Amino acid sequence: MSGNKKRLVVIGGGAAGFFCAVNAARLHPSLEVTLLEKTSKLLSKVRVSGGGRCNVTHSCFSIPDMVRHYPRGGNFLKKAFHQFFTTDTIQWYSERGVKLKTEEDGRMFPVTNTSQTIIDCLLREANKYGVDIRMNSDVKSLKYEQEAFTLELSDLRMLTADYVVIACGGFAKLAQFGWLQQLGHTIAEPVPSLFTFNMPGNAITQLMGVSVPDAQVKITGSNLLAKGPLLITHWGMSGPAVLRLSAWGARQLATGNYQFAIIVNWLPDYNENTLREQFQQLRFDLAAQKIVNRNPFNLPQRLWQYLVEQSGIQEEKRWADVSAKEQNKLIANCCAQEFKVQGKTTFKEEFVTAGGIQLAEVDANTMQSKIVPHLYFAGEILDIDGITGGFNFQNAWTSGFIAAKAIAADVKPAI
Ligand SMILES: Cc1cc2nc3c(=O)[nH]c(=O)nc-3n(C[C@H](O)[C@H](O)[C@H](O)COP(=O)(O)OP(=O)(O)OC[C@H]3O[C@@H](n4cnc5c(N)ncnc54)[C@H](O)[C@@H]3O)c2cc1C
Repeated sequence: MSGNKKRLVVIGGGAAGFFCAVNAARLHPSLEVTLLEKTSKLLSKVRVSGGGRCNVTHSCFSIPDMVRHYPRGGNFLKKAFHQFFTTDTIQWYSERGVKLKTEEDGRMFPVTNTSQTIIDCLLREANKYGVDIRMNSDVKSLKYEQEAFTLELSDLRMLTADYVVIACGGFAKLAQFGWLQQLGHTIAEPVPSLFTFNMPGNAITQLMGVSVPDAQVKITGSNLLAKGPLLITHWGMSGPAVLRLSAWGARQLATGNYQFAIIVNWLPDYNENTLREQFQQLRFDLAAQKIVNRNPFNLPQRLWQYLVEQSGIQEEKRWADVSAKEQNKLIANCCAQEFKVQGKTTFKEEFVTAGGIQLAEVDANTMQSKIVPHLYFAGEILDIDGITGGFNFQNAWTSGFIAAKAIAADVKPAI
């Protein structure tokens, strides 16, 4: 540390670490800001995020609505969003020449359609405010003694700091949190979130590529239920409805080793009773037409054929000739078809770890540890995770900014 200058070390060169470092350096120009990244790549998740386009945030401008998209951490973020919200993210990037656009489903991307725009912006800011970026710097341990931190890197280099922000993302295993537990912090056990459901050998996988704009999926024996687009894949099922369930059920499904059953309602505007009433009319209206060819619900034709087939209805059968038993089976398949799930696949477009630093030990107004003074957290290392749609990056921007602001306010003005 040179002279009276205070030094902040940010651990982690991802979205949260960068956002924190550049804002701290800007808000308090006399603060020496060093950013440590263990790999030789900066902002690597930002680069691949959103299929290479970076889904920066979500066009949601109400805090109560926004927090409903976080299976873990919503209450904590309710406070934090009052300081830095989606509107602030949009403005922050806009002031730096990065315009965002909103897609139909609310996801926001840079108008350039490339994550490189976000990376360039953050690197430009780091350069402008003199953030000292050090790659290949893997922090192994952290100690706080006599109002100063000592950081030890894996190559045995040592660093000192007055303030430390931990922004090293999610770790898959509890053991990887050991150095943070040594500081006295409690860790909510990490489990994956945002994954797709595997259904090995199930006939439904023959329909891979078929998607339904609106289906309802329920996990049996629980009250976990989601509605939305569903995609049939080579391995099983994906799409927003499935990913949402994987996030809300992340802990429960991990406990059961990803062996469970789901019930799909392919026609969520109906239940079995209302669909039965509808069938009476259809049998009358479409009497002479072959049931397999005449799909009255706008379901993808391949899916309709599959549902008819699974109900034991012969190809030649006309609507008028379907037996009561066959009709009941078709209604059940349309409204409550059961599938066995055996395993999961990580969703390659967006993946997060649920779990991390327990939120009760962090002040949501500053991101400061309640256990170690001058220690702060930002991003996915916290026990916060959102569903897909830009919610995870918003957590990174919000927590990174709040930590930066709190540190800048804490540092005495330079003499
Ligand atoms: C493929 C993919 C696509 C995604 N797409 C989206 C999306 O479009 N929208 C969205 O909202 N979310 C998306 N996410 C989730 C989002 O990327 C993360 O939630 C977000 O990047 C978390 O930011 P972070 O800075 O907390 O952690 P990270 O981005 O994981 O960054 C942490 C950094 O810390 C470094 N590090 C770790 N330990 C140490 C150490 N001991 N010393 C030094 N450095 C260390 C790591 O190498 C890493 O570079 C996606 C995730 C994935 C995997």
